[in-house]
Amino acid sequence: MKTGISVEEARRFVLEAATPLPAEIVPAAKALGRVLAESVHSGRTLPPADCSAMDGYAVRAEDLAGASEDAPRGLPVVFEVAAGGCGERALRPGEAARIFTGAPVPSGADTVVRQEDTDPEGERVGIRIAPPRGQHVRAAGEAVRRGDLVLQPGTRIGPAEIGMLASLGRTLVHVHRRPRVAIASGGDELVEPDGDPSGGRIVSSNSYSLAAQCEEAGATTSNLGIARDTREDLARTLRAGLSADLLVSSAGVSVGDHDHVRPVLEELGGQMRFWGVQMKPGYPLAFGRIGERGAWVFGLPGNPVSAMVTFEQFVRPVLLRMGGHEACFRPVVSAVLAEPLIKKAGRQHFVRVHLKRDGEQILATSTGDQGSGVLRSMSLAQGLLVFPAAATKLAAGDVVRVQVLDEAFFWTREPLA
Ligand code: AMP
Ligand code: MG
Repeated sequence: MKTGISVEEARRFVLEAATPLPAEIVPAAKALGRVLAESVHSGRTLPPADCSAMDGYAVRAEDLAGASEDAPRGLPVVFEVAAGGCGERALRPGEAARIFTGAPVPSGADTVVRQEDTDPEGERVGIRIAPPRGQHVRAAGEAVRRGDLVLQPGTRIGPAEIGMLASLGRTLVHVHRRPRVAIASGGDELVEPDGDPSGGRIVSSNSYSLAAQCEEAGATTSNLGIARDTREDLARTLRAGLSADLLVSSAGVSVGDHDHVRPVLEELGGQMRFWGVQMKPGYPLAFGRIGERGAWVFGLPGNPVSAMVTFEQFVRPVLLRMGGHEACFRPVVSAVLAEPLIKKAGRQHFVRVHLKRDGEQILATSTGDQGSGVLRSMSLAQGLLVFPAAATKLAAGDVVRVQVLDEAFFWTREPLA
């Protein structure tokens, strides 16, 4: 087991765990946000036949050569085709058929004239234009041809893909299974949110923030509850999570007398890959695996900010990759630092910052007290400023790199031109 490794090295270790989970079959209508684990070929041609893109009249373009505003051409309207219907017979030269959007163009016709360019006169219609052949006709196969590869494996399924699958008649689809995460907390001081927080007790907020982070990354979670600070209780709690894809525990992973997570994981067959990452917050992070093929395990630090920040850096990318996502890192923006920052050399800091648009640039301001227990610094933050390990100071006005935590940062109150 390695200790005191850099953030980059830790990232390499955890990405080893990040292989896509096998496929499962789900209803296509419920596949939003999932990742396709098959190639979707079309069994259909869409549209299946030439059809009208407008309400108007199906005609033969050659019958209207020379027609104009001043010299409209009158044609008999011999039948009507509505969407979902079909033409009674083939259109003969010199005839028109009333047609509506989405209706199949009858054989014999090759063109649709919009009703705005016509004047109905009883059984006939006066047409005021000479349309080019094929106008306002959606050609059969214009969208998809039978046999086309429509969606590639690895595609993230959004609303358009769900619509596409529906139009292909696909009610079921193969997607990567969601990762299952078991979440454990440990500490004699911890109570549930509805428990009694007197006498130095605190609420186990990590159980909740971490579960929400998992869900945001597409995982399902089970809460193993709060283990007491004994090896036996911790072992019992963690054992209940061994069938998950990933076991995430927080606290008890440091070097205190009550920090049992690492020895207990080893007792359960875990092989730790590393402990301790040169970062702040979040140094005491442990990572390993139960046996050769079992659950991957993260022992996150207990402090609420450390737990969330280490989750962001290491657990989230693993969950996204397990779910089949190739892109698994947050967007990073360049921002202008609004105030100076200093630190010691050695650890990479993740400074919680508030981001604000300022014309073309983005301004980053610290959210205030950066204590690893100050959860408020996370709730006020839109981003994590990366203060490199070797650096000791950043000046106001410096351009810095910020991981954007909140996608809503890119949303705007006013429409952008
Ligand atoms: P530990 O790693 O057990 O020394 O915990 C470090 C700090 O994190 C202590 O102040 C704990 O009270 C706090 N802490 C541990 N677990 C949780 C949790 N589940 N929710 C919120 N705070 C926690
Ligand atoms: Mg503790």
